[in-house]
Parts: sequence; C-alpha cells; structure tokens
Amino acid sequence: MAVSGIGPYDRENIFAKILRGDIPCRKVAENDVALAFHDIAPAAPVHVLVIPKGAYVSLADFSARATDTEIAGFTRLVGQVARDLGLDSEGYRVLSNMGENAGQEVPHFHVHLFGGRALGPMLA
Ligand code: IMP
Repeated sequence: MAVSGIGPYDRENIFAKILRGDIPCRKVAENDVALAFHDIAPAAPVHVLVIPKGAYVSLADFSARATDTEIAGFTRLVGQVARDLGLDSEGYRVLSNMGENAGQEVPHFHVHLFGGRALGPMLA
C-alpha cells in the first residue's frame, strides 16, 4: 500500500528491530500500542523517543492510517512518560520529523520528548 511520508515501510529499520527485540533499547514505558525508550544520542538531559507498535513510516502515515485506539494510546503514553519523568512542572518539548525536509532519519514514526533544561526557542 502506498503511504504518505517517505516511502513504503521498511521492516528492517532500526525501530522495527527494537520492536521485534532484535536489538536492545533502554525502555522507559509501554502500553498496548506504543513503546517509549531513551534516545541513543540524547540532545537534552531527558530525550525519549515514543513510537507506535504498528508499522507506520511517519506522522503523515500514522495520522492517515492508524486507528483511533492507536492514536489515543500513543498520545497517552507521551503524556504519561513526561509526567512519570517529572517534566510537567518545568515543561518539555515534543517534536516529530516528517520526511526529507525535516531530516527524518528513521522511517518508523516517532516523537522526540525533550526536557530537563530550558530548551530555547524553536528553530525553523
Ligand atoms: P529522526 O531524525 O527524527 O528520525 O531521529 C531519529 C533518532 O533516533 C535520533 O535522535 C537518533 O539518535 C535515534 N536513534 C537511532 N538509533 C537508535 C537506537 O538504536 N536506539 C535509540 N535511539 C536511536
């Protein structure tokens, strides 16, 4: 099936391997539809990635094809992780790179959750 984003889903991408248990991750939390783990190259004191368990290339793909249950569960896990890591009071940033212009490196939809310091203004 054609998907919007950055091409067809590649089952050998690194996050697909993490989901299969082929390579390890530093897990933070999971629910039925999503997994959260620490980024391997953190850009802030807290840098967690949240990914759906389903095979979606990008936000464009996820928003078009995922079920309401997946979208709700994914969103709840992002908020839960931020809460559990104590980020609610000082604030945090959630970001998703979609496709070429944004420099998306891993072709499995993910959001970055940054926190633990003042993050400065958003860069365009
Ligand atoms: P993107 O540019 O939004 O696709 O970001 C991909 C992110 O995945 C980067 O921040 C990488 O540091 C991170 N990353 C790549 N491989 C791994 C891994 O094996 N474990 C955890 N994070 C990873």
